Amino acid sequence: METLWQSLVRGSSDFMLYAVLPTVVVNLTWFLSGLFCLGLDAVPALRKYKIQEHDNGTGEFWRCIRHSLRNKLISEIPLTFASYPFFVWLGVSKELPLPSVATVLLSLLFCLVVEDAWHYFAHRMLHIRWAMDNIHYLHHHYMTPFGMASSYAHPLETLFTGFGTVLPMLILRPHLSTLLIWVVVKQLQATMVHCGYEFPWRPSRFLPFLVSASFHDRHHRRFNRNFAPNFVWLDRLLGTADEKNLGPRRAQ
Ligand SMILES: [Zn+2]
Ligand SMILES: [Zn+2]
Repeated sequence: METLWQSLVRGSSDFMLYAVLPTVVVNLTWFLSGLFCLGLDAVPALRKYKIQEHDNGTGEFWRCIRHSLRNKLISEIPLTFASYPFFVWLGVSKELPLPSVATVLLSLLFCLVVEDAWHYFAHRMLHIRWAMDNIHYLHHHYMTPFGMASSYAHPLETLFTGFGTVLPMLILRPHLSTLLIWVVVKQLQATMVHCGYEFPWRPSRFLPFLVSASFHDRHHRRFNRNFAPNFVWLDRLLGTADEKNLGPRRAQ
């Protein structure tokens, strides 16, 4: 692993490593995981795990791709590029040795907790009438979400909630490899809660404090419940959780 890392780092500029590489990694993860979710629709045996019966058509799929790419160009990529000098300045290291597995896991846990808190309150603010009418209505365009719709949002929303992904990096200042793993984990988690399927082997079944696809799916239909992205505890603590009917079910 260390040889591989060294060959990646050697000869690459800081701009390539801290700005371009995270951008490529996160967008590849978004595209491939979103494609995987779409592939699920082609397997009839999995339909029983679909949360809602409604299928978004091909037109909606292309609309989502077009809008998400535009949104990424306007907001997500500039946010990543603007964060890169801060990562270098704050000492996010690219040097060997690589962090241990335990350090990476603890860092990821910290990142998930911090991002969850930022995102929860930012998301609740986006449900204030003005912000909903002018910004957050876009993300709620899909009442039946699907994997790629995780990035279907107004650029201002992406900047506002997306800062929650950058914030734990600024606090923790981890190794660059941990930063790359973090953006992959966060994107996979965002795709997973939008995928539209509730599988019996989902992580939240074994770790019930995790947000599941049906938990976030209910947010897309009910609007005023289930704001948190990663953990259910803030919604439970602040009385905004709606966990009735968790698990596979059909829409009326
Ligand atoms: Zn959503
Ligand atoms: Zn919302």
